[in-house]
Amino acid sequence: MGNVSIETIMTQEPKVKPESNQLAFGTVFTDHMFTMDYTEGRGWHDPMVVPYEPITIDPAAIVFHYGQTVFEGLKAYVTEEDEVLLFRPEENMKRLNRSNERLCMPHFDEELALEGLRKLIRIDKDWIPNVAGTSLYIRPFIIATQPYLGVAPSKTYRFMIILSPVGAYYKEGINPVKIAVESEFVRAVKGGTGSAKTAGNYAGAMKAQEVAEAKGYSQVLWLDGKEHKYIEEVGAMNVFFKLNGEVITPELNGSILEGITRKSVIELLQYWGIPVIERKISIEELYEAHRAGILEEAFGTGTAAVISPIGELSWLDNKITVNNGEIGTLSKKIYDTITGIQTGKFEDPFGWRMTVEY
Ligand SMILES: *Cc1c(COP(=O)(O)O)cnc(C)c1O
Repeated sequence: MGNVSIETIMTQEPKVKPESNQLAFGTVFTDHMFTMDYTEGRGWHDPMVVPYEPITIDPAAIVFHYGQTVFEGLKAYVTEEDEVLLFRPEENMKRLNRSNERLCMPHFDEELALEGLRKLIRIDKDWIPNVAGTSLYIRPFIIATQPYLGVAPSKTYRFMIILSPVGAYYKEGINPVKIAVESEFVRAVKGGTGSAKTAGNYAGAMKAQEVAEAKGYSQVLWLDGKEHKYIEEVGAMNVFFKLNGEVITPELNGSILEGITRKSVIELLQYWGIPVIERKISIEELYEAHRAGILEEAFGTGTAAVISPIGELSWLDNKITVNNGEIGTLSKKIYDTITGIQTGKFEDPFGWRMTVEY
């Protein structure tokens, strides 16, 4: 599969690029996209970079009815030296294949997908914004395309990668957010699909988010689906707490999504010699730690924000404030270090960056 050639068809109608300082999230798309098809018996075929355009799919396609689809999210940055950098993209491709496995979807060649991604980025390189904090958001995804109303895995699929220049997540500095602890809805359960990046998990989470937002919170803190006791994630991010000098994050349990930012934060803390532990942590323990005065910092981690500090939590109308509602020293240091590595400002002792040659 490694030597498969990727055909390219260039757009005849390049779009007007937005100003780097006018960008939002996920609203504007570049001139090209990567596509590749799967047919049972034939495998993946026809990897191509083609003009970005709407696609035609049969209304009976399995993806529309039973949600057989998986996705990824990562970013590319352009450095001051005009180098194009990706952050651990091989991890995203591995995870996409793990999600595939969970949804009964066919394994793809990760090297070929990365080659397709690099080719696409090279072609749309001028779309990468260069204002501080901006980036090119990359959305690989796979959809089940077979027209069939029976509940069964599709025999045909399409793999696509689209690109979207995005604005800075933090335009006015990093402001800690207010979080509602969710005690009614659950995001995922052990044995379910929580550890896969698949559409249904996000559709199912929107209700809780809507209720929380109406009450003035930015996200919900998800508890486990069985006992409503143990902390799992915050919104669509993993979550970390600093208690008495020690950093704790919920251990992977089959319902938590294994974030690449999470993994990077753990590796970075270990590198710094700061104790970091993956274990169960209950919401009761967290509130108890706050009462004892040892809850020092709390933050979410994910590709979009990198680090999202938590300033306030509300659980059954019981509110607590973390670090006076300000970003913690360690949270800030992690944020600066990871974004520094991503954007080429810092050394990369871990080999996390991939340079896209062009
Ligand atoms: C994508 C995602 C994350 C974060 O993963 P990253 O690889 O760090 O971006 C965490 N939780 C959920 C539910 C997610 O979908």
